Amino acid sequence: MDKRKQKYKKTAKRNLRIQRANSEEIRQKQRRKKEKSKNNETDAKNKDINNLNSSKKNKPGRKQDPKGVEFNDSDLLKITVEHFFKNKINDLIDEIDDPRDRDMCTYELTHLTWLGILMFLFRLKSRNQLLKEKDKGHFLENLLSLSASDEEYAAHPDTMNYLFEIISYEKYESLKTDLVKILMKNKVLDKHRLFGSYRIAIDATDLFTFKTSHCENCLVQKHNDNTTTYSHKMLEAKLVSELGFAFSVCSESIENVNGKYDKQDCELKAFYRMEEKLKKLFPRTQICILLDGLYACKEVFDICKKNGWGYIIVLKPKKIPTLYKKALEETTKYPNNTLLLEGDNEKEEIKWCCHVDYNGRKLHVVFSKKTTIEDGEITIKKDSWVTNIVPRKNNIEKLIKKGGRQRWKIENQGFKEQKCDDYELEHLYGEKANAWKIYYQLLQIAHLITQLIRYSDLFQRLQEHSPIQNNKRVINSFKKYYNTIGNFVLEMRRKFISETFSELTEKLRGKIQIRFSSG
Ligand SMILES: [Zn+2]
Repeated sequence: MDKRKQKYKKTAKRNLRIQRANSEEIRQKQRRKKEKSKNNETDAKNKDINNLNSSKKNKPGRKQDPKGVEFNDSDLLKITVEHFFKNKINDLIDEIDDPRDRDMCTYELTHLTWLGILMFLFRLKSRNQLLKEKDKGHFLENLLSLSASDEEYAAHPDTMNYLFEIISYEKYESLKTDLVKILMKNKVLDKHRLFGSYRIAIDATDLFTFKTSHCENCLVQKHNDNTTTYSHKMLEAKLVSELGFAFSVCSESIENVNGKYDKQDCELKAFYRMEEKLKKLFPRTQICILLDGLYACKEVFDICKKNGWGYIIVLKPKKIPTLYKKALEETTKYPNNTLLLEGDNEKEEIKWCCHVDYNGRKLHVVFSKKTTIEDGEITIKKDSWVTNIVPRKNNIEKLIKKGGRQRWKIENQGFKEQKCDDYELEHLYGEKANAWKIYYQLLQIAHLITQLIRYSDLFQRLQEHSPIQNNKRVINSFKKYYNTIGNFVLEMRRKFISETFSELTEKLRGKIQIRFSSG
């Protein structure tokens, strides 16, 4: 069957599923389940969640009003996914070639994929924990609502894992990128560009380390004490902005393919593979690449020129000593190329020089010296970057603050959050074949959705549509109300189990304006 026919068949099947899901028969079944699960509700609330809940009871704007529609915390998930991805997420999942024998399958691809995304959204840390949660309360109904499927039970995580062992990893990477592309296409990220370009920070991160060989692709490191470690790393390209976003747009595994190599794979080699992928994914998109000192080399400068990308790369004195020294000398010749920024307890002196020759390339170099006084203690920090964006007095501050220094977002909002905030980036979720790579992509999708919830004003908008308490409306910001993302995740998970998505998710469909804010 050709691809168009296959796609047509899938779409027809999807429409049928949606019709069935909306039919009265299903509704009755769901009502019966709702009543049954009410009895189990108490089991669903774990100790942590109870503690959090008791501390939240007295917050304004949350009491149930029988006359109005009160939203619940998991509505944020449902509305965010529908609003930002325009209901396309399930269509994109359905486009993935399913290697299973369809006649033998109980679970739709959307069902199993959403189950994986939920494991990361709820930060359950393991498939075992997902197994414990999936049959509680309204988990199934809400899962079916997200995946537009109509199965009788939530799939066993082993069923999900089996799929991820045999299905294409690349298709799941595309799914993640396609979601960010939808945001770009719908101009959601337009305000988060620098000089018209999306900022893409690229850096590598460690994933797993083992004492014995895990697979033939492992990176091998021999130590002085005669021990050997085996590891996996990933090179990541993330779209970053000063608001706090770090959305994964491209990933390249650093590994020894088929275990054959003269010299092992490394970050730079992975970058040379990634740049081709990135150019194919975003052929006409204006991009500015943010990189650390490792990438300050002629090959990378030339790649960026070839692809039409802007770049701001950290320039360490020892990486290209000739260029660094020449640039430093040039700055003394042009005293006008200086800007002094003064704050309460800090001052920053910025110097720059343009068109410095480096083997025929004309590059621009920026130096910053930042002095901070804290508790009487003076700290001086020096930074320097090489760039192909011409620095001028009227853009230099932006170039550093919204450019060069945003590279840190991939470390802090990217890797650190995914490793330390219970996403468990370093946990091996799937042992066999490419399963772990698919979990990696699902983690990125869950992180993307969480960031969209966190940095949008949807939480405020929902409060506006909720009943007024004691004739007084108190609108809290996401940050003020939940304090931490961890608190939000606990509440979202608790409500996902104890209630179905509220009527507001239906009522507001297509009728709500959502903007980004850091509050
Ligand atoms: Zn391995």
